[in-house]
Amino acid sequence: MELVRLETPSAARDWCAQRRAEGRSIGFVATMGALHRGHMTLVRQAAQENDLVVVSVFVNPLQFNDSTDLERYPRDIEGDCARVEEAGGTMLFSGTLEGFFPGQIQADGELQPASLVDPGSAALGLEGEFRPGHFMGVATIVNSLFEVIEPTRAYFGLKDFQQCLVARDLAKARGNPTVVLCRTIREEDGLACSSRNLLLTLEWRDEAPVIQRALGATRVLWQRGERDAGVLRDFLAEGLGASALSVEYAAIRDPLAWTPNDPTGTLDQAVGLVAAKAGKVRLIDSLLLHTDGGDLGL
Ligand code: AMP
Repeated sequence: MELVRLETPSAARDWCAQRRAEGRSIGFVATMGALHRGHMTLVRQAAQENDLVVVSVFVNPLQFNDSTDLERYPRDIEGDCARVEEAGGTMLFSGTLEGFFPGQIQADGELQPASLVDPGSAALGLEGEFRPGHFMGVATIVNSLFEVIEPTRAYFGLKDFQQCLVARDLAKARGNPTVVLCRTIREEDGLACSSRNLLLTLEWRDEAPVIQRALGATRVLWQRGERDAGVLRDFLAEGLGASALSVEYAAIRDPLAWTPNDPTGTLDQAVGLVAAKAGKVRLIDSLLLHTDGGDLGL
C-alpha cells in the first residue's frame, strides 16, 4: 500500500483518530530520520503486532545541545519514505517545532519553559549529565507525538537505553501507549547501526566497533559469574582504554533500578552503557549483561 505522508499535527491527529475509530491498532516508531536497518527492525516489528504503523521523522532541535551536531545530522526524507513503505509502514509524519508548538517558540528559538515536559528520574546521570536538557527535549517531543498519534504500542530501541526508560516512564504517567523495547541491530563488525555512522571517517569507522567489543567482553565476564558493579565497570572501561576513542562514560547500571550514580556492591541484573567520541562523532551503545534481550520486565 502506498505510504501516506502528513506534515502537520492536525492532519496526523485526524488521520490517526479516524483509524482508531475504525477499531484499528496503531504501532508507532519515533525517529530522527536517515533511517537504517535498526529503525527498519522496529517498523517491521510494529507492522507484525499492529494493524497500522506510523513512523515520525523529526530532527528534534530540542534534544540537541550542540548546534553543529544538529546542523550535521544526516537527512534523507525521500529515502526514508521509500524504506518505511518497504518495511510495511502506513503513514509517515514529518513535523516542525513550530507545527507542534504554534506561538510557543521564543525569540531565541527556544521553546517557552511552560511547554517543556519533565523527563523524570531516569533522565538523571550519564546521557542526562553529558547532554544537559537532552531528555527534556526528548520527553517534550515524544509526549507531543503520543498526544497526536495516540498509538496502541510505541517501539523504542535499546541502543538508546536511558531514552527507553524515559519513554517508558512517560507512557506510564500518561497511561498509554504500551512501550515495546527492541534489541539493538548491529553492523557485521558489531557496531550498532546509527544514523551518525554515516558521518564517521574510514579510520574512525574502523575504530568504533571497540565499543561493542568492550561491552560484549563485559557480558562474558558477567556470564562467568562476576556480579560486582565496580569490577564490571572497571573491566568495561579497560576494554575501551586502549582505543583512540574519547570516552565520555563507560558505566554499569541496574536496568530495573536506575540510579544517577554508579551502583556499588553486587547486582542481580545489569546493563553496560558507553558514550564515546570517534573524532567529531558522538556514539552511544548499551548491552544488557544478564539477558539477550527477552523479557526485561522494564
Ligand atoms: P533515532 O532516529 O536515532 O532517534 O532512533 C529512533 C529509534 O530507533 C529509537 O527508538 C532508537 O533507539 C532506535 N534505534 C536506533 N538505532 C537502532 C539500532 N541500531 N537498533 C535498534 N533500534 C535502533
